[in-house]
Amino acid sequence: MPTPIGHALGGLAVGVLVAGRTGPPVTVGKRSWSRLWVWALCGMLADVDFLFGSHRGVTHSLGAMFAVGIVAAMIARRRPEVWGAVAASYGTHLLLDWLGADTVVPLGIMALWPFTDAFYVSPYGLFPAVCREYWVVGCWIDLVQTVAWELLLLGPVVAAALWFRRS
Ligand SMILES: [Zn+2]
Repeated sequence: MPTPIGHALGGLAVGVLVAGRTGPPVTVGKRSWSRLWVWALCGMLADVDFLFGSHRGVTHSLGAMFAVGIVAAMIARRRPEVWGAVAASYGTHLLLDWLGADTVVPLGIMALWPFTDAFYVSPYGLFPAVCREYWVVGCWIDLVQTVAWELLLLGPVVAAALWFRRS
């Protein structure tokens, strides 16, 4: 399964393709900014379940993707490109995790919840499993190699999306 960097790149690429380079408006006080990082954040959002001790469950499902899209639609009612991009960026997380190798049982993600609680994983293992034994030096070497692979694979996709949507 990809690292947060891989998920951020996936969310960024798809968010840019769906909504353009400006990103959604972010209003703080009286100032409003457009930030591309929101797409990257949406790409990483599903892993919030780490905080609740049930990783790769409901938050890694199409049901969660639609729920996130509905919340975005309620917030940005008149900007369908924004809520579409939020849902699509969130959806990249599901796709990339599904394409990743997994070593923790149950393998895969609960992709089709609420229709089924089954876990699904692709047979391709496009992304290596992420080492979580951070006290082992070899784990950090694996992590660097994994991030390099994600940058190699997804970096050009992000660059192509930014180029395609250049204004
Ligand atoms: Zn995940």
